[in-house]
Amino acid sequence: MQIYTKVLIGMAVGAVIGVTVGPKSEFLEHDTYKVSDASSVELFLDRDDPSSQVSLPAGFAMSFQALEVVEDDLEDTQGQTHRVPAWAKVRFRFSQKLGLYDSAGTLRDQLGHPRTLAWVTVWLKIRNIALPSGGFTSVPEPISGLGDQIVSFLRPIGTAFMRLIKMVIVPLVFSSLLVGVASLGDVRKLGRLGGKTIGLYLVTTAIAVSIGLACAHIIKPGNFVGEGARASLQAQYSGDASSRAEDAANAPSTIDNILNIIPSNPLESLSSGNMLQIIFFAMFFGVALTLLDDKKGTPVVNFFDRVQQAMVVVIHIVMSLAPYGVAALVADVIGQAGLSVLSALLVYALTVIVGLTIQAVLVYGSIVRFLAKLPLRKFIRAIRPAQLIAFSTSSSSAALPVSMECAEENLGVSNAVSSFVLPLGSTVNMDGTALYQGVAAIFIAQVFQVDLSVGDQVAIVASATMASIGAAGVPGAGIVTLAMVLSATGIPAVGIALILGMDRLLDMFRTAVNVTGDLSVTAAMAAGEGEQLAILTKEEDAADPDRGFEGRLKGREHPVPPEE
Ligand code: ASP
Repeated sequence: MQIYTKVLIGMAVGAVIGVTVGPKSEFLEHDTYKVSDASSVELFLDRDDPSSQVSLPAGFAMSFQALEVVEDDLEDTQGQTHRVPAWAKVRFRFSQKLGLYDSAGTLRDQLGHPRTLAWVTVWLKIRNIALPSGGFTSVPEPISGLGDQIVSFLRPIGTAFMRLIKMVIVPLVFSSLLVGVASLGDVRKLGRLGGKTIGLYLVTTAIAVSIGLACAHIIKPGNFVGEGARASLQAQYSGDASSRAEDAANAPSTIDNILNIIPSNPLESLSSGNMLQIIFFAMFFGVALTLLDDKKGTPVVNFFDRVQQAMVVVIHIVMSLAPYGVAALVADVIGQAGLSVLSALLVYALTVIVGLTIQAVLVYGSIVRFLAKLPLRKFIRAIRPAQLIAFSTSSSSAALPVSMECAEENLGVSNAVSSFVLPLGSTVNMDGTALYQGVAAIFIAQVFQVDLSVGDQVAIVASATMASIGAAGVPGAGIVTLAMVLSATGIPAVGIALILGMDRLLDMFRTAVNVTGDLSVTAAMAAGEGEQLAILTKEEDAADPDRGFEGRLKGREHPVPPEE
């Protein structure tokens, strides 16, 4: 079975686990309250004594298991009375000893114990928010404790897979870029390739945001969100939204961003994995090696060439674990989101997905067909492993090693081009992210009834294009930079609360598009440099065990003899 078939099966299994036995599962009892910031909930040592209120440190996220729920009668906006949970006696435990302070700042109690992980019991006051259409929604939201445990149990498998794949990024990018630049041996050629690549990246991103804006205007997803869903989404995620807005406000300015490309200490850039700095230094290093007299640079280039080859083998080994890692990652995401968010934001999500499909088919289809001169269907088949890893990890950086492998092995792009264009793309080119920001901005403006002028929309295109350059290729980067895009046009940043619950799911789709964009531009650049691209056929893949993802692992090991 091909690796991507196995990865697809892994994704499907993960999705089924997430929906059926995840925290938001409809089949399991919802006996736990999940709180993303404990300082936003009210906790009491004694339910009848208001002065016994205590607080936990801000940013303290945890789940409270409900032992007992006390209900109350409340009248909703339509005059109907409902029996709703008002208090929950909750139990939780943590590995840190915490002091609980009351509003006067007096230490009321010491909770927990680092060694015993002692259970702590307090009363949680449940906020019931009246919905304009009738009924209530409660904050914090009840989830299944068992489901939460199941996904927490699976989470380390996904995390291990993510870490394994990320482990390869820095050595792979550094070594292959250095070797690529040294083998190009021409600084002017490099400059030209760089200029064309960045130009095409910017154009595809600006088109992507415009497609996003157009889809949002035509479909008008904001009009489909009911009053109730709006209030509940906002109440549920408002704490998270303000922390995203704060992150965005602390982001460095454009000039600092540009200056930051120059590393002051390349070893630090390598150890922190700062991709643009690594690219900058590897290029300088590679060029310098070609400028040394008498081919003195050759041993160094050869050394890094071997490093790169070994990293490719590591990627092959790691990819054989992909189906399990992917199943765990998908179960976690789907389990956390739950189907209720999906239904409230269905039209919004579909708008993003329609936009992403248009971008992939029209924009990348044209690039692949007319610039790279490759058949689109075969191209998609060749890059599928990279798309699947991007989709399931929601990280273009994590998908980078697999993208490079697809470009070189499956499309026939030279190492010189792929090692330059793809790492650059994984940080600066995020068409899917930019498109989603366009849809999200208009969606939030529609929900809050903010009128946007043509100038505002041009500002959205410009700021989303810039923001996609600044965003890192990691899960959730796009929602942080969305706050910057919103503030450029005066759309309320709290609107992010509306879409947060859905964000992680859409992140999967937009990351797959980000990576598809990088690979399309890479193919176009290689063709532009006069390379003969040839897509690896199924037969060639099967016939040559040294190519493709499966083959190499089945090859024999060759022990490395020590130097004489
Ligand atoms: N997860 C995306 C990526 O890595 C960035 C984002 O849109 O959040 O490409």
